[in-house]
Amino acid sequence: MVAVKEALHRILEHVPRLGKERLNILESSGRVLAEDIISSGNIPPWDNSAMDGYAVCWRDIQKASLEKPAMLKVVADLPAGKIFNGRLSPGQAVRIMTGAPIPRGADTVVQAEDTEKSGEWAKIFVAPKKGKNIRRAGEDVKAEERVLEEGTVLRPAHIGMLASIKRSFVSVYQRPRVAILSTGDELLEIDEPWEEGKIINSNGYALVAQVAECGGIPLQLGIAKDRREDLLTKIQQGLLADVLVTSGGVSVGDYDLVKGILQKLGKMNFWKVAMRPGQPLAFGVISGKPLFALPGNPVSSMVSFEQFVRPSILKMAGHRNLFRPTLRAVLREDIEKKGGYIHFIRCRLFAEGKKIHASTTGDQGSGILSSMVKAQGLIVLPGDKTLARAGEEVTVILLDPTFFHSPKPPHLS
Ligand code: AMP
Ligand code: MG
Repeated sequence: MVAVKEALHRILEHVPRLGKERLNILESSGRVLAEDIISSGNIPPWDNSAMDGYAVCWRDIQKASLEKPAMLKVVADLPAGKIFNGRLSPGQAVRIMTGAPIPRGADTVVQAEDTEKSGEWAKIFVAPKKGKNIRRAGEDVKAEERVLEEGTVLRPAHIGMLASIKRSFVSVYQRPRVAILSTGDELLEIDEPWEEGKIINSNGYALVAQVAECGGIPLQLGIAKDRREDLLTKIQQGLLADVLVTSGGVSVGDYDLVKGILQKLGKMNFWKVAMRPGQPLAFGVISGKPLFALPGNPVSSMVSFEQFVRPSILKMAGHRNLFRPTLRAVLREDIEKKGGYIHFIRCRLFAEGKKIHASTTGDQGSGILSSMVKAQGLIVLPGDKTLARAGEEVTVILLDPTFFHSPKPPHLS
């Protein structure tokens, strides 16, 4: 039996980062950039107006005031997207819209509110600082500048930046294809007719969702019966994917055949982890593919996926930050536990004043899927601890990413 920390260390040591693929930027949101992005040009590419108004030579307006406005001859009208081919001479102005390139000869823009048009002339009532209201070429991004770094998780602003430098394709890390195999004679698929003594293969579905949630590509292999040939065929099929996750059949019952088959196929790294739920859990690299044999109990399967498979999928997809956030919470009840095992206890969370409080979701049996349904987090109780008391602060892994969301805008209250 290995400790959780040791198990995680061994797993991540063996799990490779996948290769790269090129994607259209519109499909790259949430993916991990596999290259540095260098801008070939300036953004903005040229000096342009930050206001609607008049582009002028500052010398002509430096003494302008309400009482003594400067009078300039308007020689052109410049909407955004058009350029002024000539050069501004002293005494002239160009009517300019936000975003239009600054005409040669102009060095300042006076905003429309401080001017008045009268026929071919513009009256300028103020004298802003020289260079005012001009957005400089390269003030956002300079040519040859690195705008995005390899390893960045792409968000909408990054996509906008890529577009603004004319990059329609980028190199990102591949998402792992994760084969999911449920094992057990007692299992039925969701749409099969009921039979006495059977249960639905709920792990198969929860695991698909867990894989998808962290960015892997789930491949449903369905159910393998507790028979050597069926298990062997389906496990070999699963090893064609990037990762294989099985559930069930790894404890010590008469029909727990997964262990025996894996031992024949290759060398597993470990078979048991000192945690609850989820103690029977095997990991190994077989035919070059990471294989996780998770326990069959629904909660154990989900919790061990959280601990070990999720960070592995994230690592394979190029992520650097592999772990969910944790927070400190005040326990609302005493919790007793066995020594020697880390316990992951499903809990609900309550924000009270400046503190967060945690209470268990009730029965913590590893078959009680509803305890997982209610859980917003997992309280982590270390192996050496046998009692945590109400009022004590504990570490909680935050499972529910919406926990800090709220129905009203908290910044506007
Ligand atoms: P096992 O580890 O195969 O002995 O399974 C332990 C418990 O988990 C048994 O009660 C199984 O019925 C249950 N179980 C195993 N696989 C699944 C599954 N895919 N979906 C739901 N429950 C399962
Ligand atoms: Mg079984």
